Order: sequence, then C-alpha cells, then structure tokens
Amino acid sequence: MENSAYNYRGRLAPSPTGLLHLGHARTFWTAQQRAQAARGTLLLRNDDLDTARCRPEFVSAMVEDLRWFGLTWTEPMVTQSQHLPRYRAALARLHAAGLIFPCTRSRRDVLAAASAPHDGDENDEPLYPPEFRPAPGTPLPPLTDPITVNWRFRVPDGETLTFLDGRGGAQHATAGRDFGDFLVWRKDDTPSYQLASVVDDAAMAITEVVRGADLIKSTFRQLLLFRALGHPAPAFYHCPLVNDAEGRRLAKRHDALALRTLREQGRDPHEIRGAW
Ligand code: GLU
Repeated sequence: MENSAYNYRGRLAPSPTGLLHLGHARTFWTAQQRAQAARGTLLLRNDDLDTARCRPEFVSAMVEDLRWFGLTWTEPMVTQSQHLPRYRAALARLHAAGLIFPCTRSRRDVLAAASAPHDGDENDEPLYPPEFRPAPGTPLPPLTDPITVNWRFRVPDGETLTFLDGRGGAQHATAGRDFGDFLVWRKDDTPSYQLASVVDDAAMAITEVVRGADLIKSTFRQLLLFRALGHPAPAFYHCPLVNDAEGRRLAKRHDALALRTLREQGRDPHEIRGAW
C-alpha cells in the first residue's frame, strides 16, 4: 500500500469465557492479514467484563493459543476490566443526553412480551417491547453508584441505518423493527458489550473492526452509540462463521476444534491455514 495519511488500526477482541477454536482463529487471521496489507497496527483486547463467565486461566490460554497460531499484535493488551471509569463516563454522557432509560423488567418479562426479531435470528436478543419504555415526559432518575438497574439505549424507531461492510457490501437495518432498545449497563454494575466495545474502539482509535458475521446486528447498535457519543465510526468487515462437520456453528464447547486440542495433536498452523 502507498504511504498515506491513513493509519490502519485493527483489533482482535476475544472474550476469555472458554478456549478459542478454529472459528476465532480464522476471523483473527483475516484481521491480521488486513492489518498487514494496510501496513497497519493490530491490537489485542481482552473482553473480560462478563465476570460470571470470564476466567483468568482462559486469558493466559487465549494469549498462548493465539501466539501458537501465528498471530502477533502490538503490546500492551487492553484489558476491559481495567477501564471501567471510561465506560462509566460514556454512560454519564448518554444519560445527560437523555438517550437511555432504566429498565426494571426481567429478561423473562421481555421474552414473554417481545415479538421475534424481524428476520427470526434466534441468536439475537428479542425486540424490546416499546410499551416497556418509560412514558414520555417521565423524568430520568439519576445514575446511582453502584448501578442496580439495567439501563437501555432508546433506539430511534423507524430509522434505517446503513453501513458498507468490507466483505458483504451494503448492510441495512431499521431501528425498532430489526433490533430494539438494547442494554448499555447491567444491574450488576457492569457495562454491556455494546457500550464497552464502542468506547474502546474509539479510545484505541480503531479504523476497521474485523469480526464474525454473528455480530452484524450488533454493528447497527454500535453505530448508534458511536453517533451518540460523537465518535467517528470505524469501517467494518464481517467474516463468515465456521461450522462443524454437522453444519452447526462452532462454539467454545467444541473442544475437538479448540486451538489447544489441535496443538496437542501436533497439528501445524500452516497446514490448517492452507486448507482455507
Ligand atoms: N468479544 C466479542 C466476542 O468474542 C467480540 C467483540 C468484537 O469483536 O466486537 O464475541
């Protein structure tokens, strides 16, 4: 690539909730290739905010397995649990702008009242019922410390959002129809993935997000957050998901295809990549 003012910055953002598998490796390999092609920088972000599911031993395993596979990144790794104040500051800005509301409904209430997402994607969360929103004109209660209720972003109903995916081309979704009001902060006082990811992508000056196609719907939510927080949105490139021999999407429970298992079997990462 020509020497230009464009300074590509990408990231690998695994969650240490289990062992990484071939699906992660394939997406991360694409991320690395895109960063290298642009003579850019690749960073590693440890998405460890889900305290119930993340475990320290999975952090060291993920670093080891990524290195074994041939991935390299610019140190230091960014660990989300060390940046709680910046997510909280972003939440305060959304609150000051009146873009969020507290939600005391349980997951079960939402499931019972919700209509299915427009395209019937069973991996995505159900549409938040608009009748659960606070009545118009209800004053917004202050943010408490600690936070003990869920806070949701109020999506602009009927607005169609668009982005140009680096792999799949133009993508569209309509707020309030394809996705609804989504969590930005949880009642256990932790930021949601959507908020933390946007705040970090901005703080880390990421120019392109490469990740699995399962997160396309999240990209639309995140575009709303980038806009609400006044940050330019990065470019996006969503990779196809890898399926197992039965056609099921790989998950962290697929130990047979965990990078660790392949390594223990003496498999060669070059040869694995060659099959792609
Ligand atoms: N940590 C997220 C996950 O493993 C990915 C986040 C992202 O790439 O935005 O699903």
